[in-house]
Amino acid sequence: MEIVHYPHPTLRYHSKPIRRVNNELKKIVDEMFDLMYEASGVGLAANQVDLPVQLFVTNPAGERGDGEEHVFINPVLSRPKGSEEKQEGCLSLPELYGNVIRPREIHCQAYNLKGQEFKRTVDGLFGRIIQHETDHLQGVLFIDRMKESIRESVSDEIEEFEIEFQSMRDSGTIPDDSIIRKRLADMESRFC
Ligand SMILES: [Zn+2]
Repeated sequence: MEIVHYPHPTLRYHSKPIRRVNNELKKIVDEMFDLMYEASGVGLAANQVDLPVQLFVTNPAGERGDGEEHVFINPVLSRPKGSEEKQEGCLSLPELYGNVIRPREIHCQAYNLKGQEFKRTVDGLFGRIIQHETDHLQGVLFIDRMKESIRESVSDEIEEFEIEFQSMRDSGTIPDDSIIRKRLADMESRFC
């Protein structure tokens, strides 16, 4: 398992709800936490490790043993309140940062790894992470939500990611879309 970078097609995939929480899924969650900490991130969505399922992991503290680990399965957001502009980054666009406007507070309903439903209203950094990661599951990236002027200011960095991706495609490091689609369909049939 590895973190895929923009513009990998799985980052644009609308992931499907999970129906089966089994040991394989628990192993995936463990690996996702490992990758997230290795990359010094605070959240990681399944799409970012080339998996087409509605799942993300987060620890707002960003360090193993510190803060609290959370697993969100099939998250549904509602009741947005207020608006706040803050800087964001993303493990699929490393070292690119920019301001994004999002609701200040949001209500989230999701399931944990035991299959238990939970609901909470979140704000601050945790609320922002949940919104950023839930976006991933719907194929939306934070650069899509940037104001035109901000997006313009990072356009060179975005283009560098596109060039890097194309060269990995050309060298065969990243397979064709048809192969990626087939793999995603196979994974879906196992969990969704
Ligand atoms: Zn991200």
